[in-house]
Amino acid sequence: MAQTFIQEGEKIMSKAVQYCTRCLTPSTRPRVVFNEESVCNACQWAEKKKSIDWAQKWNKLEKLCDEFRRKDDFDVIVPCSGGKDGSYVAWRMKHDLGMHPLCITVSPPLQTEIGRRNLDNFRNSGFDLIEIRPNPEIYRRLCKRMFVEQARAKFPFVIAISTAVAHVALKFDIPFIIYGEEGETEYGGSDKYVDQMFMDSESMVKVFHEGNLLSEYLDEYSKADLKWWLLPEEDNLKKLRITWWSKWESWDDQLHRDLAIEKCGLQTSSGEIGTFTDYAQLDDILQDLHMYECFIKFGYGRATADCNLGIKGGRMSREEAVEIVKEKDGAFPENYLGNYLEYFDMNEEEFWRVIDSFANIDILEKVDGRWRLRPAVINALEKGN
Ligand SMILES: [Zn+2]
Repeated sequence: MAQTFIQEGEKIMSKAVQYCTRCLTPSTRPRVVFNEESVCNACQWAEKKKSIDWAQKWNKLEKLCDEFRRKDDFDVIVPCSGGKDGSYVAWRMKHDLGMHPLCITVSPPLQTEIGRRNLDNFRNSGFDLIEIRPNPEIYRRLCKRMFVEQARAKFPFVIAISTAVAHVALKFDIPFIIYGEEGETEYGGSDKYVDQMFMDSESMVKVFHEGNLLSEYLDEYSKADLKWWLLPEEDNLKKLRITWWSKWESWDDQLHRDLAIEKCGLQTSSGEIGTFTDYAQLDDILQDLHMYECFIKFGYGRATADCNLGIKGGRMSREEAVEIVKEKDGAFPENYLGNYLEYFDMNEEEFWRVIDSFANIDILEKVDGRWRLRPAVINALEKGN
């Protein structure tokens, strides 16, 4: 349902944006799908979830675990950063499903102190953990290249979460991997995965890597350099059974937070940038840039993402959420600017040139040196259509 905005000064916007009438997801979100009532696929899923027989799903998960259960060895891989969701999945796998999880974390590019502490606390709560710490110079160069070329500074981490984890699973001969949520269905994106219980290599590359194959970087790096980022051979990938927790239990981030605090020593943070929550996305300095890039390219940031969870969880109204987003979304993490410049080996001018080159000027305008939503877009956000 495309719209054309008439701006002040009669400038006709070339690209339209619409918002979900239930949450604040914009049509600029990659792959998101809206129905005739302008409801996004994540909100349709939230509705559908209520009528799903989750007890039956749980039984199926138990049976799936039985297929892979081992008495004397690790039998499931749980990717976990020490945050609320991975900690929750690992805990339930171990204590409620009787599995022997081997947890794997890929170090984020610029780990925060609280991120380090939470990961240690998680391990100390009774888990075996393999930490993959890629060569920092290669990691840094990859992050810089993706920042400059795509405004996706954190994407090397995102890719490694599946590629590096798959390599370790194959090495240890543990074919069963369970991730947290399948985000396309849960947060809005492609609607093709609602009934897909397992990840295949096609969806891994097309959706979760957004088409990026780091094998294209082999002109600049050796295969050994890129080991953590290259997909295993197709025949090997087929040996893995990769699923998501959100397919078997109704995804509830508050429940995860509470359990992770109580059982796994999760610590929260204060003064988060661009939002109002204190328990998510705490482990990486680049995460704040990642959300800022999202705002620059698609016009929504972390406050929108967090508000959408609040609306779905019945903790706030759409109107309350709009006010929070207007106040908080799109804040640049000023405190970290020095970290970014140092990490990318750039001066401030070069850094902002990259950011500005990706700014979606159909929906953003620069006021007093800061990108913000255009009035017509704020109007659409408020109205919700
Ligand atoms: Zn929605």
